[in-house]
Amino acid sequence: MHKPNHTIIVNWKKRGFGCEKNCTYCNWRSSPHLPNGAQEQDAVSNFIAQCPKSFITISGGADPLYKIEENRAALLMMIDTIKTHGLNMRVITREIASIASLKGRVQQVSISLDSDVMNQIERHRADWRGLEIEYSLVLPPLPQTTLHQLMPQYAQLQHKLGGRLLLRENLNSIHPIDPHEISSGQRSIGFVPNKLCLESRYLLKQPFWGHEIIQDMGPIMIYLMSSPSAYIFGGVVNHLLAPEVHPEFQDIDLIVTHDSVLDMLEKNFAYQFRRVNPIGTHPRYYIGNSTRAGKPIQIVRVKTQEEAFRFVFNAQYDVDRVLYGNAPIFRAC
Ligand code: SF4
Repeated sequence: MHKPNHTIIVNWKKRGFGCEKNCTYCNWRSSPHLPNGAQEQDAVSNFIAQCPKSFITISGGADPLYKIEENRAALLMMIDTIKTHGLNMRVITREIASIASLKGRVQQVSISLDSDVMNQIERHRADWRGLEIEYSLVLPPLPQTTLHQLMPQYAQLQHKLGGRLLLRENLNSIHPIDPHEISSGQRSIGFVPNKLCLESRYLLKQPFWGHEIIQDMGPIMIYLMSSPSAYIFGGVVNHLLAPEVHPEFQDIDLIVTHDSVLDMLEKNFAYQFRRVNPIGTHPRYYIGNSTRAGKPIQIVRVKTQEEAFRFVFNAQYDVDRVLYGNAPIFRAC
């Protein structure tokens, strides 16, 4: 039977987002479910009581070790609550200078890697004796074949780090990945598929299943790429055409010829759209955010396919004159 991982997502900051970094793939800061300040002890206890595993993770959200001097009391209270339930703990962080303060309190620390963190490891490594250290790296949102080519580099990275390296599928990736194809064959390198996160339990302001609070990008793209009323343009199409050249996109730009696309995105993917240009003007512009951590969607609502084509293939989009649609072309522009 599948036993879901249990993770407490923290954000110690009473207002805003408690992390010094600004990673392009971080979607948590806009989540309406993110706590502001520590969760109540009772809520933590109730959540832990449901955990079928022997360990629980404290993670971001924001960073669990953010401004540790200010937030130590809240973190220690959470750690003590978990201890009374007899569970082991893992903390995921990038606040590398504060890791040593967890000695004797938690069993495992997972260091989330970026270039800045990498540069600091040797300076702090000696302070971590007694802690089980693991490293995790969020993979770029690239197709499986490209990731497969990168595996020798990840093997070298693991060798340099010396500890176990977990490669995490990028939650924003729109490319399907077969975990067996990504596997390096080495026990020291693991792979965490998005599926595992979507099937896990999380405590934010309240408990959730992963799929309730994390957007699964695959089904959205399948829907949009097969809808005859949706045309995708901008950064996502560049990413689809050349993911290695355009590995990131900030949002999803759409032109739609029918309101059913907005309805579908609201109903199935928890988006809420708001009109951003005055009523009575044409075309209609909308911006949508989902209550699940994921990318915003910008929509231009036009009446016809011809209008959709005109919108993209005009002088304004000098560089970006490309759109993706699944409708038969009735009339070329
Ligand atoms: S370090 Fe983590 S919490 Fe902070 S911005 Fe990056 S992904 Fe988000």
